[in-house]
Amino acid sequence: MSSFVVALDVGGTSMKGGLVGRSGEIILTDRRVTPRDKGPAVVVEAIRSFIDELAVAGGGTPAGVGLAVPGLVTADAALYSANIGWSNVPAADFVPLDVPVMLGHDVRTGGLAESVLGAGRELSDFLFLPIGTGIAGAVILKGEPYGGTAGWGGEIGHIPVFPNGETCACGQIGCLETYASASAVGRRYSARVAATPATSGTPTSLATPASAASPVPLAVPVTAEQVAALTASGDPVAMEVWDDAVEALSLALATYTLLLDPSAIVLGGGLAEAGRLLSDPLAERLQGRLAFREAPPLRPAVLGVRAGMLGAALLGWRAAGVPDAGATWPLDVLKSPWVA
Ligand SMILES: [Zn+2]
Repeated sequence: MSSFVVALDVGGTSMKGGLVGRSGEIILTDRRVTPRDKGPAVVVEAIRSFIDELAVAGGGTPAGVGLAVPGLVTADAALYSANIGWSNVPAADFVPLDVPVMLGHDVRTGGLAESVLGAGRELSDFLFLPIGTGIAGAVILKGEPYGGTAGWGGEIGHIPVFPNGETCACGQIGCLETYASASAVGRRYSARVAATPATSGTPTSLATPASAASPVPLAVPVTAEQVAALTASGDPVAMEVWDDAVEALSLALATYTLLLDPSAIVLGGGLAEAGRLLSDPLAERLQGRLAFREAPPLRPAVLGVRAGMLGAALLGWRAAGVPDAGATWPLDVLKSPWVA
């Protein structure tokens, strides 16, 4: 058997690829732009070329290929992705070589990596919750991600938390994602500052000098990181937006906790970069919503943006007939140099 697999994490904007050895050694990482604007057929072709280039760089035919892709997905086919626009692409179509291939859902594949190699390594049941542009979770049961009947499992970002609240991009009202995704936090802060007359004394250190008479949205998008910094410095508007995010998360996580009794909740993504500014009030608020039981501990994810690619490597080894890949990988493989 070949000594490496090709692993690819396909996102809406970029594809992170790598070659990973039998003992978890990272032989190579690289990335490409996802040509999403050119249509799904071009994206599939770009994936094929990237896999081919990686295999050539590895000096031979890989033992297997693992791919993390967005949307509805089974191990054998990418069924649908609104983000990329494809439907019913068989796994073999992504691979220009005659090698076994396994597909995984992007968030669940990241969750698999956190389960086998990361924050969930000693845990059986947990929620992996990356909070980025959107919010989707990986429900981990007995160490494996669970996708439900049709693959929609884990869409915790669209749990209604404020049913009379703001409209979500999905068309429903008051979804968790509308209040607590990293982009929502930035967007909601920007909207509030833009709607506040500049003469009111509200701190507007990030605002462009706009006329108070024309409350237009800020030209510069405010990031969740900036809102976190403003929250830490006591900016009342930022604190309110941050509090809404914490409140929304505590409601959704209380529901998850009561339903599935996880041993931990693993927080990742851009918003989790705020560290204790997020986890301290969230832990307190979550406990406050649980009457008869202790809240599960909140843990930071440890694999960061590498999670999807590492999970894809596990899938690649599983495709190659090594189902326990990762179990004995030394954790120092995670300290290998990375392409961000
Ligand atoms: Zn929604």
